[in-house]
Amino acid sequence: MKYEAVIGLEVHAQMLTDTKIFCGCSTKFGAEPNSQTCPVCIGMPGVLPVLNKKALEFAVKTGLATNCQISKLSRFARKNYFYPDLPKGYQISQYELPICEHGYIEIVSDGNTKKIGITRIHMEEDAGKNIHESSSGGGSFSFVDLNRAGVPLMEIVSEPDISTPSEAVEYMKKLRAILRYLNVCDGNMEQGSLRCDANVSIRLKGEKELGTKVEIKNINSFKFVEKALEYEIKRQIKVIEDGGRIIQETRLWDSNKGITESMRGKEEAHDYRYFPEPDLVPITINEEWLNKIKQSLPELPDTKRERFIKEHGISDTDAELLTSEMSLADWFEDAITSGGNPKLVANWVKGDLLRILNEENKTIEQCPVKPSQLADMLKLIENGTISGKIAKTVFEEIYKTGKNADVIVKEKGLVQITSTDEIEKAVDEVLLKNPGEVERYRSGDKKLLGFFVGQIMKITKGKANPQLVNEILNKKLS
Ligand code: ADP
Ligand code: MG
Ligand code: ZN
Repeated sequence: MKYEAVIGLEVHAQMLTDTKIFCGCSTKFGAEPNSQTCPVCIGMPGVLPVLNKKALEFAVKTGLATNCQISKLSRFARKNYFYPDLPKGYQISQYELPICEHGYIEIVSDGNTKKIGITRIHMEEDAGKNIHESSSGGGSFSFVDLNRAGVPLMEIVSEPDISTPSEAVEYMKKLRAILRYLNVCDGNMEQGSLRCDANVSIRLKGEKELGTKVEIKNINSFKFVEKALEYEIKRQIKVIEDGGRIIQETRLWDSNKGITESMRGKEEAHDYRYFPEPDLVPITINEEWLNKIKQSLPELPDTKRERFIKEHGISDTDAELLTSEMSLADWFEDAITSGGNPKLVANWVKGDLLRILNEENKTIEQCPVKPSQLADMLKLIENGTISGKIAKTVFEEIYKTGKNADVIVKEKGLVQITSTDEIEKAVDEVLLKNPGEVERYRSGDKKLLGFFVGQIMKITKGKANPQLVNEILNKKLS
C-alpha cells in the first residue's frame, strides 16, 4: 500500500431532552406529523427562542466526558440556507464560539490505545423532514413534517486523526457508548438519532500535507460507515493512479449499490453567511454549575473497563464487551454481588445470556433472568449438584419460566450422577453394545472416545459427572 487514508467524522447526536431546544414542544419520536409544533419551531415571525437548559447541560456533560475544554463564553449563530424543512430560512447553530473544544476519546486499534482528537462540540437545532409520496394517479406530492424541527442536536467534530475504516467504526462505537452512558442520546442509528458525515482523503504514506477531502453525508449504521469509507478510499486511489485528481465534493452513500455518488461539488456548496444569533444571549457558564455537572458524571466506559480488569480479574476483551453498555455492566456486577464467580459470570453473560437475548431480539434491560439467579445456578455447578452441560438446560429454563435453578433441578430431576457404581454401569452398557468400536479404539482409533462419552451421556440423560465418566471410561478401555 503506497497510500494512507485520513478520516475525520462529523457526528450528529439527537439529545434526549423531553422538549425542543428553543421551545416547549415535545421531542417524542413517531407522533402524528406536525402535532408537536408551535410558532417558535415553525418559524413564525416575531417569536423569540429561549434556550433549553437541559440541552446545554447535556452538551457540557458530553464535553466533559470527551476531555474537552468547556467554553466559559459561547454563543449561537445563524446558519443561513433555504430548504422546505427549515421554515425560518436559517438554522440556529454555533460557529466561532462552540460550547466545547479540544477534547479526545480513546479507541483500541490493533491492540494499541489511540487518541482521536475532538475538535469541537456544538449545539444546534434539527430541521424538519420532507416526505415524498407518489399518488396512484401518477402525480407526486411532497409534505413537510416539522415535529423534528427544533429537536436539540449536538454536532461532534473529530480531528482528522482516524486512519482506517475500522478505526472509524471503533470511534463511532466508543462515542455511542459514552453518549448512552451519559443518557444524553439514545444512539439509535436506524431512527437517525445518531448519524455521521465521514470526511476522507488519501495521501502517499509518510506525506505530511493533507489531501483533498471528500465528504460522505448521512451514514446511518456502523456497517455503512465502514463500507462507504472502504469504497471511497479505493475510488480515490484509483483516480490518482489513473493520473486524475480528487475534487472536493459531497458524496452520498448508496447502500443498495454499495457505492458513493457525487451529490454536489465545491462550487455548489452553500455559503451559509454565519452571523451571531441576535435573539439569544451569549452563554456564560459558572464554575459552581460546572462542578455540579462534573460530579454527576457516571463512571465512563474506559474507566469501568480498567476497573473490571483490576477488580474482577477478567480479560481485556471480556471487560470491553461487558462495559459496552452500562446496563450490561450493571447486570454483570449485580451477579458478582450475589456471589457469582466473576470469570464464570463473564463466560455465561457473553455466551448463553447474550446468545438467548440476541435470538429473542431482547435487550439486557428486558432480560427475564435476574443476576442473582445466574449466581445461584453457578453455585450449583461449583458444589457439584449439576454439571456444566446440564447447566445450559437449567439456564434456558430459568429464562423461560423465571423459576430459580434449585427448583428447576428438583422438578426435572437434573441432579448430577456422581455415584461411581451408577456411572460404571452405564459405561459397561455402552461398551457391551458397541464391541466393534471398542475393537477399533483399542487398535488406535482414539477419536472414538468422544463417541463413547456421547453414548454414556445419552443413556444418563446428560446427568453423569463428565470427569468421572472420562476416568472410568479410560480405565475400562485400557
Ligand atoms: P468543512 O469546513 O468543510 O466542514 P472542517 O475543517 O470543518 O471542514 O472539517 C470537517 C471534518 O473533516 C472534520 O472532522 C475534519 O477532521 C475532517 N477533515 C478536514 N480536512 C480533512 C482532510 N484533508 N482529510 C480528511 N478529513 C478531513
Ligand atoms: Mg464542518
Ligand atoms: Zn415548538
